[in-house]
Amino acid sequence: MAEKICVAVRVRPSISEESPSGTFWKIEDNRISLHKLHGTPISGLSYAFDHVLDESCSNSKVYELLTKDVIHAAVDGFNGTAFAYGQTSSGKTFTMNGSLNDPGIIHRAVNDVFQKIQMISGREFLIRVSYMEIYNEEINDLFAVENQKLPIHESLERGIFVAGLREEIVNNAEQVIKLLESGEVNRHFGETNMNARSSRSHTIFRMVIESKGIDTGSGDYSSSDAIRVSVLNLVDLAGSERIAKTGAGGVRLKEGKYINKSLMVLGNVINKLSNGAKQRAHIPYRDSKLTRILQTALGGNAKTSIICTVAPEEVHVEETKGTLQFASRAKRITNCAQVNEILTDAALLKRQQLEIEDLRRKLQGSRSEVLEQEILKLRNDMLKYELEREKLEMELEEERRSHKEREQCIRDQQLKIENLSSLVSDGDRSSSQDSMKESPKDECNNFKTPCFKETSNNAFVAKRSNYSELPDFSPLPDSFSNVADEDTWFKMNKGYIADLDSLQATPARKVQSFPPQDITPDCSNDNYKLELQNLKTQLELVIKEKDELQRKHEEEVQINSRLMGEISELKQELDLSNNSLESSKQRYGNLEREFQKLKEERDSLLQTVSESSKNITFLTDQKENILKDLNCEVQRRKDLEAEIKQFSVAFASRQRSLASIHGEFKSKIEKLRAENLVRY
Ligand code: ADP
Ligand code: MG
Repeated sequence: MAEKICVAVRVRPSISEESPSGTFWKIEDNRISLHKLHGTPISGLSYAFDHVLDESCSNSKVYELLTKDVIHAAVDGFNGTAFAYGQTSSGKTFTMNGSLNDPGIIHRAVNDVFQKIQMISGREFLIRVSYMEIYNEEINDLFAVENQKLPIHESLERGIFVAGLREEIVNNAEQVIKLLESGEVNRHFGETNMNARSSRSHTIFRMVIESKGIDTGSGDYSSSDAIRVSVLNLVDLAGSERIAKTGAGGVRLKEGKYINKSLMVLGNVINKLSNGAKQRAHIPYRDSKLTRILQTALGGNAKTSIICTVAPEEVHVEETKGTLQFASRAKRITNCAQVNEILTDAALLKRQQLEIEDLRRKLQGSRSEVLEQEILKLRNDMLKYELEREKLEMELEEERRSHKEREQCIRDQQLKIENLSSLVSDGDRSSSQDSMKESPKDECNNFKTPCFKETSNNAFVAKRSNYSELPDFSPLPDSFSNVADEDTWFKMNKGYIADLDSLQATPARKVQSFPPQDITPDCSNDNYKLELQNLKTQLELVIKEKDELQRKHEEEVQINSRLMGEISELKQELDLSNNSLESSKQRYGNLEREFQKLKEERDSLLQTVSESSKNITFLTDQKENILKDLNCEVQRRKDLEAEIKQFSVAFASRQRSLASIHGEFKSKIEKLRAENLVRY
């Protein structure tokens, strides 16, 4: 969906006490116009934008109006960029960084991103941040002071990226704020006048937001899972004022040239983009590091907001006009933002997903803060090693290339020396023989051929013919002299597109020219002497050049051996880095094994416990049965005892009755026996 870049102008509160004497800027709704002191607007100097914010506007409102949507879209997978453009002291840093009471866009964006992702339940996020500075057209890492002069690379997988830039994985806003603070400290590093530097450098704070729908299914991550990757750039640009105004010279002048160059390229890019699709054939993104890094944000797949800050004071009218013209052109750009979904392994989230999942599962058993910290640290270490390895590999590649180039150069030089030596011996011969056979024209060819045919692919050769007739050296173009700089600044602010290609032409090498050979051969003695003189001078020159080349050759050989040393050092560093990666992996493995062991132990303990409890229930059952049986037995015993008692009572009474019967019976027998005796 095509959409315009959102452009706003923000006027900071006036600092000077002086009241305007001729003109002043008037703000009405979304329009800003230059007015004469007592009334009428000045024609041609009235501009309308999406928003024009006066001095009473807070950072919170700027955020709401201009950046909130960009940040929310970034969480949804759209690239986003917000940048502040304007002269020094117009309020760019105030807008981006803010103050204690009114935090700037960066702080608000960071908080907002984390708040927003917490509200999204169906997706999983991985956020990494980086912070860089472009100073004198060199990229320095603000998270790692040692990472200086970083190169920009482009790959199919990662697009345009700054090689070797430290990225930190973060999981809350406080972490990011802390990192930003440490970045600011690094920015102060080695710089006494912080303000001076900040107005001469661009800073880019970058958040890469990767996200993926949470897989509720099997839990394995098939390659068809699309991951959204969006890049959010928050940029505080260098001051856009003229150098003359700051009275800069020396180092400051050099800095100024670079700033003006990159801001001018930014202006060129914006001009070309604002001209519409027809004239978009070549957009000079590659002309500056800033535009190269912001390429996607400026010309295509991104939602972009530009906050142009201006100073209201009358002394700054020219700069303010320049800024407003820049803003007007930016307003005409149309971008086409779309969600970035990728299926390759480039997404860090994808690469780390399985490991995270694994660790998370393990953590569920024993959720411990220490372990979580350890895991975050390990992930950051892994990322760091990956970046370091990538950087080292690239450096190695670079070294190899320059080594090859040097070798080629040495070969060329050797060839030259050989050619010159043969030339010298030719010259010797011709002077010793006092020969007139070779025409001076031929000799001229002798000089030309060996020297320059070898480098026929060098653009310089084609140009050289223009200078070959000149007695001195080829000119060395200084692409940004003070005068050119001033000039280009004016042109830039008037919407003029400078031809950077001509400014950036490869500097011509210094070329030794030889005295013209315009003497026609003549047999007269004078001419002959003159010719001889000429030849001698040439010979001397050639010998000198030969010596010079020999010296250079020796230097090259030395450089070569130093380079070889450096390469082997780099290799060693690479080995070291690989080793530490290996040891980190081992630590990771050990941790995993420990987890496994603990889990196994826990499982076996659980098994034993469940077996024991089974035994216990079994035993309790048994005990209950036995108790029951015992009770029965006791009861039975009691019953038996009662029976026995009854029986013994009955038995005793029976015994007693038997005894009485026995007594009766006995007495009866006695009686009978006595009767019997009486009868007989
Ligand atoms: P720049 O980064 O463009 O060089 P600064 O942001 O450093 O400018 O602003 C210069 C001064 O003006 C600072 O002291 C800053 O606090 C103040 N300032 C800028 N804009 C505002 C604003 N909108 N409200 C209050 N003070 C501001
Ligand atoms: Mg600033």
